[in-house]
Amino acid sequence: MKSVLVTGGTGYIGSHTVIQLIEAGFEVVIIDNLSNSKEVVLDRVESITGVRPIFYPYDIRNFDALRELFDQYDFESVIHFAGLKAVGESTEIPLKYYDNNVSGTVTLCEAMAEAGCKNIVFSSSATVYGDPASVPILENFPTSTTNPYGSSKLMVENILQDLQASDPEWTVFLLRYFNPIGAHKSGTIGEDPRDIPNNLLPYVTQVAVGKLEQLAIFGDDYPTKDGTGVRDYIHVEDLASAHVKAAQQASNFKGTNIYNLGTGRGYSVLDIVKTFEEVTGQSVNYKISERRPGDIAECWADPSLVAKELGWKAHRELSEMLEDAWRWQSNNPNGYDS
Ligand code: NAD
Ligand code: UDP
Repeated sequence: MKSVLVTGGTGYIGSHTVIQLIEAGFEVVIIDNLSNSKEVVLDRVESITGVRPIFYPYDIRNFDALRELFDQYDFESVIHFAGLKAVGESTEIPLKYYDNNVSGTVTLCEAMAEAGCKNIVFSSSATVYGDPASVPILENFPTSTTNPYGSSKLMVENILQDLQASDPEWTVFLLRYFNPIGAHKSGTIGEDPRDIPNNLLPYVTQVAVGKLEQLAIFGDDYPTKDGTGVRDYIHVEDLASAHVKAAQQASNFKGTNIYNLGTGRGYSVLDIVKTFEEVTGQSVNYKISERRPGDIAECWADPSLVAKELGWKAHRELSEMLEDAWRWQSNNPNGYDS
């Protein structure tokens, strides 16, 4: 049985990926410091898969703990989700982001190198494209960032590429996620933001469930079809399956492999609200407000490279993403505390 270490495995994308890894026959070991997730996720994963993933509440910055772990298990790959992701907070406390996301990854890689585990799958983001000159976005577009969160992702991408260039035994996947939404079909695993959500989908579902009063749509004067921002929303289950493929095929890959993970389709904020209303029968109270500083008009992927090289494609439609997000939110109005 192949063993894989999943950092940040109790988080939103990590937990969905852990389920699929278990279902694909991997032995899964999770480390997560629970700074943005809850241990009860493990109960939910167990009730879905029948297997309780091995869990250590470790921080990726704790080299000694990592060393012990790598001594104990023979990991073939590391899927590295652990990181802080709140863009606004990153501009207020940048050092926290550089320490956690950048230093944490360096420490993780040191432990991996020492143990001879040299396959890493890293959670990057479409944010590294900054404000793209055109859409759809290809992997070879120029990179730039507008906030410390984005900079931390780009720095880690550069660090991993340098590491790989220095030692060809490394295989690096830099997976640039577009906008992950949705939840596991069971309605028992999903996105559970600690505070008021920053992202569109959890905001919409929390308004629909009555936790928040009104959605503010950030601007209707963008040069898009209806004036609201356009993004490439991807079902978290599709995203998770790309990680399973990378872990399964790591030994066939060499070098650094950079892939966009998106559907290749863009939807506006108003598309999301209207489709959500249609598929769930819930109405969403919204108003148009000012643009959010730093937002771009439109962003969607050209996902053809990952289809060609990894054989991965997103399959789920927007309606399914929204239905699944709603099932999770309505079954768990207060997230994992429900
Ligand atoms: P999440 O916050 O739900 O999951 C991240 C997990 O990492 C959390 O469980 C948190 O407790 C853990 N963690 C954070 N710092 C840690 C540390 N130092 N040591 C150990 N564990 C730590 O976020 P998510 O949405 O599942 O995102 C996973 C990854 O994907 C992140 O790296 C994020 O930046 C990246 N990403 C997310 C999105 C998105 O919209 N959700 C988009 C692009 C990229
Ligand atoms: N958005 C919005 N109201 C919100 C949150 C987001 O109108 O409360 C818009 C935002 O301006 C963008 C889209 O929804 O056009 C997706 O935003 P999100 O923060 O989820 O992702 P990102 O901007 O990082 O792609």
